[in-house]
Amino acid sequence: MSQGSGARRIGILGGTFDPVHIGHLRGALEVAEMFDLDELRLIPNARPPHRDTPNCSAQDRLAMVRLAVQDLPPLCVDARELEREKPSYTIDTLISLRAELGEEDQLLLVVGWDAFCGLPTWHRWEELLDYCHILVLQRPDAGSEAPQVLRDLLAARSVPDPQVLCGGSGQIAFVWQTPLEVSATQIRQLLASGKSVRFLVPDAVLAYINAHGLYRASN
Ligand code: ATP
Repeated sequence: MSQGSGARRIGILGGTFDPVHIGHLRGALEVAEMFDLDELRLIPNARPPHRDTPNCSAQDRLAMVRLAVQDLPPLCVDARELEREKPSYTIDTLISLRAELGEEDQLLLVVGWDAFCGLPTWHRWEELLDYCHILVLQRPDAGSEAPQVLRDLLAARSVPDPQVLCGGSGQIAFVWQTPLEVSATQIRQLLASGKSVRFLVPDAVLAYINAHGLYRASN
């Protein structure tokens, strides 16, 4: 913890986690270590407002994320979006998290580059930085280009050195993580065609997928 005395640093990584994989986990772990986070919360989405319906139940996705982060502090799971009746808007999650934190506490919203490029489609996206800093993870498949509105935002809010993020919110920084070109889509496709996903997901997650027959072609 490198903030003022008593201030905490909480990272959050939202996603469908359908299923959680080593790309998510390695990114989360590297950010947690780089920023000396008190917690890095993985937050599974309930009904992603701008994505297709996930391929397995919220309960299964949550169970797999729990298995993935067990004994891996400061990584942990925050199930608040699954406990809500309405769609999971990140702005609502940030507001509810902020209400639990002190003003000095830093909230770091971790997003992959692809997700960041889609930011202007998010509900009330222009308010996100009122509640958190944004850390953008560079992904190897970063083919997308940021729209002009985001380039303007980056010009105004990005800091060259992520370690100097100051205050509880308001800035954007880029973080390079070990490139792992893996996606949940690829994992679902491998499983649907009867192939192995060993080493792409933690063994405990693989055991869960097998025990519950998830993502198989017959599902
Ligand atoms: P799908 O293939 O179903 O679209 P995904 O693998 O992209 O899923 P999500 O649950 O949508 O996984 O991702 C949650 C967050 O993790 C997003 O911010 C995304 O950019 C990031 N992320 C996913 N895979 C990686 C990866 N391999 N490396 C770095 N970040 C990743």
